Amino acid sequence: MNAQQMKEDAGKYLANTYGRFDLALDRGKGATVWDKDGKEYIDLGSGIGVNALGFADEGWIREVTKQLGKLAHTSNLYYTAPCVRLAKELCERTGMRKVFFCNSGAEANEGAIKAARKYSHDRYGEGRYTIVSLQNSFHGRTMATLSATGQEVFHQHFDPFLDGFRFAPAGDRAGTLAELREDVCAVILELIQGEGGVVPLEPGYVEEVAAYCRAHDILLIVDEVQTGVGRTGKFLCCEHYGLQPDIVTLAKGLGGGLPIGAVLFSEKCADTLGPGDHGSTFGGNPAVCAGALEVLSRLDAAMLDAIAEKGQYLHETLGKLPSVLSVSGLGLMVGIELAEGRNARDIAVRAMEKGAIPLTAKAKVRLLPPFSITWEELEKAAAILCECLEEGE
Ligand SMILES: *Cc1c(COP(=O)(O)O)cnc(C)c1O
Repeated sequence: MNAQQMKEDAGKYLANTYGRFDLALDRGKGATVWDKDGKEYIDLGSGIGVNALGFADEGWIREVTKQLGKLAHTSNLYYTAPCVRLAKELCERTGMRKVFFCNSGAEANEGAIKAARKYSHDRYGEGRYTIVSLQNSFHGRTMATLSATGQEVFHQHFDPFLDGFRFAPAGDRAGTLAELREDVCAVILELIQGEGGVVPLEPGYVEEVAAYCRAHDILLIVDEVQTGVGRTGKFLCCEHYGLQPDIVTLAKGLGGGLPIGAVLFSEKCADTLGPGDHGSTFGGNPAVCAGALEVLSRLDAAMLDAIAEKGQYLHETLGKLPSVLSVSGLGLMVGIELAEGRNARDIAVRAMEKGAIPLTAKAKVRLLPPFSITWEELEKAAAILCECLEEGE
């Protein structure tokens, strides 16, 4: 199937839910990817923060295929080793106590929301069910996670939303504490708002909200679907903040390219969900967990340091340009704020013409390269971005 035929059939047969770029990808290796016409690109998006080890990583392919040849899927009616090993590994690396596996970020947040409500219901009975989320947040596309998403653009057309969600102003201490009333069972937040435009929360603000939550037995849920699993140069972004939350959600980068979500519970709520309270047919799928175990085994101190260093390089290189107002984010999660008159999507399209594939988030150009991107690829991609950003300057 050639690219033209593919695009025509996509228009005809795929639900029209995405504003796709005009790019038909064929194969990749590491941070390099080729389109159907054989043109080469450097990948700065990793499938929206998913392909931690890049495309077609040999170790990851070996582990997943080895598992596919043994057991691809069993359901959670039985024990399988990859799922148990992955849960243990995640707990050991994060200090959390128990893990629930599902298949996406939205599902992980659904699980967190259900657990928070049950925790409160078990202890305090009816009426204490409100989840406070932050303005400009993104937590997913299911009805509950949309209800928790603090961006109006996602709220059109789908009324009514779930009861029991309120939004607090991100970064505003007094405004946030004012929302933490008697009816609140949990706060959910991203430490760096990703889809909202790579906007980090101030550590002082997070510390105050966390302390208030601790004092009032309000669960703190940190959505690390995008920031987690090494993306910011630490295993969890929480480590940058010295934060030990009650619940952490993971997804995107965890599977290295296969769908997985995880809800990590601290001691406090480790046994809140019991048999029959929650479940997922595919959750903890052995092949997917084998891939995730390979991601974790490769994500050692040296790789985390390299992520931080590569991120630093992008901050310095791009931050110097007159057309760039600011560079935000940590590690390989980078947001580029553009000067007046510049459009992020136009710049992304120009970069693709020149052989690099960035993302956008709101008005920013956003970069989420695979961790395995080589220095040579990174320098080449940065040069392309600089050219695009400086055009017409
Ligand atoms: C992507 C994302 C989600 C949703 O994940 P899906 O796998 O698309 O359901 C939730 N929270 C954050 C912070 C995200 O970046």
